[in-house]
Amino acid sequence: MADTTLSNSRIEAAYRERTRESGRLATEAAECLPSGITHDSRYLRPYGIYVERAEGARKWDVDGNEYLDFFGGHGALLLGHNHPEVLAAMRAALEQGTHFGANHALEVRWAQAVKDLVPCAEKVRFTASGTEATHLALRLARAHSGRDKLIRFKTHFHGWHDHMTSGYHSHFDGTPTAGVVAGVTDSIILLPPGDIDAVRAALAAHDDIAAVILEPTGGSFGMVPHGDGFLGALREVTAAAGVLLIFDEVITGFRVAPGGAQAHYGVTPDLATFAKILAGGLPGGAVAGRRDILDGLDFAAAKKSGREKVDHPGTFNANPVSAAAGAAALGIVGTTDACRRAHESAATLRPRLNAALAAQEVPWAVYGSFSGIQIFTNPHNLAIDPATFDPLDHSYQVLKESRPELVHKLRLAMMVNGVDFAPWPGGMTSAAHDEADLDLTVAAFEEALAMLKREGEL
Ligand code: PLP
Repeated sequence: MADTTLSNSRIEAAYRERTRESGRLATEAAECLPSGITHDSRYLRPYGIYVERAEGARKWDVDGNEYLDFFGGHGALLLGHNHPEVLAAMRAALEQGTHFGANHALEVRWAQAVKDLVPCAEKVRFTASGTEATHLALRLARAHSGRDKLIRFKTHFHGWHDHMTSGYHSHFDGTPTAGVVAGVTDSIILLPPGDIDAVRAALAAHDDIAAVILEPTGGSFGMVPHGDGFLGALREVTAAAGVLLIFDEVITGFRVAPGGAQAHYGVTPDLATFAKILAGGLPGGAVAGRRDILDGLDFAAAKKSGREKVDHPGTFNANPVSAAAGAAALGIVGTTDACRRAHESAATLRPRLNAALAAQEVPWAVYGSFSGIQIFTNPHNLAIDPATFDPLDHSYQVLKESRPELVHKLRLAMMVNGVDFAPWPGGMTSAAHDEADLDLTVAAFEEALAMLKREGEL
């Protein structure tokens, strides 16, 4: 439900004052959408903004307010909103039709673009989302290995299908989340993030493990990073045990480097999953990897091997508009310095935000890797110094915890000052953020902290 109760927060009052039309829409939305929203991470109290249009690094709400955008289409928009070449490709495809119920040339171009960039991609299968991609990767791994179990890491996110829900933001003991049957979670071995000894022990104790899956830059795009060498060690132990290694590159793919985290770190998994940037801002996902594993989907190869083929339909797999947008976006990522520019913006922003924290003596810290901005709001008031904060010194429990009401207020205060941060809290920079945008973001953060202080929150 939209929150219609008035609090005595001046931050909230300022937000409500400038977002009246959003507030009206939120009240309407509450009548037809649970919590008035369509994605859990868009939940914001008292309500979220309703956006009318976007361009480059900015978006505008229905009340005419302008925001610098660090949500970045949940990570899909490395190139910013409405990149002209991607838009042109999309428009041209749209004119030709949105669904042919048949093969089309754009899906071939799109798959070739993935193969050209991604080291593990001998073959590619498109899906309609990242969740579908991790679901399919798991099914392929099981079919290929003839084994059932999957090793996952706490705090790593792989979408919302039944195998992936425990241990991301709740149920760290591996018990099933609401609506998931216990039989599914029984096949998941949930390990502490970045713990190679735990992986070794699990591999030694079970002979029915099909695969290990992880976010290659750490849980929740680096909110819970792992130490140097973890990926290499994981590659070694999985190969030695004959267990498949799956990198979930739904966020890191085409962002950390044009060839994803696997290209950056020089560690090649057996399978990788993609979405977001892959489809240039439209819906789409993919599993890419070793030919012999993807052959599980191939009619002739399956028949020849005597194994049952892995089923995989999907009405919107590689729809022509997503294929056009994706091929155009990957072309730009592969031939420009888009990834590097996004990283540089985040690398500039992180210490400047930490300096703002230090100047106002706020015991938080801003960290992250590549184009990620992670704000640690330190709910237990640990003695930390923002300038030297190292997330590797802290447990996942510490890094993952926050005070939701404070985070909501921080986000409202940032929006009142013209910046939309993601709810982690933090965000992702894009190649469209420029120096002036970063100045504005720092100023907004300074003012947001001052507002939180005035309200007695800090
Ligand atoms: N895997 C990772 C690492 C993600 O970050 C996400 C989405 O944020 C997913 C999988 C699920 O992708 P989708 O939202 O397209 O289903």
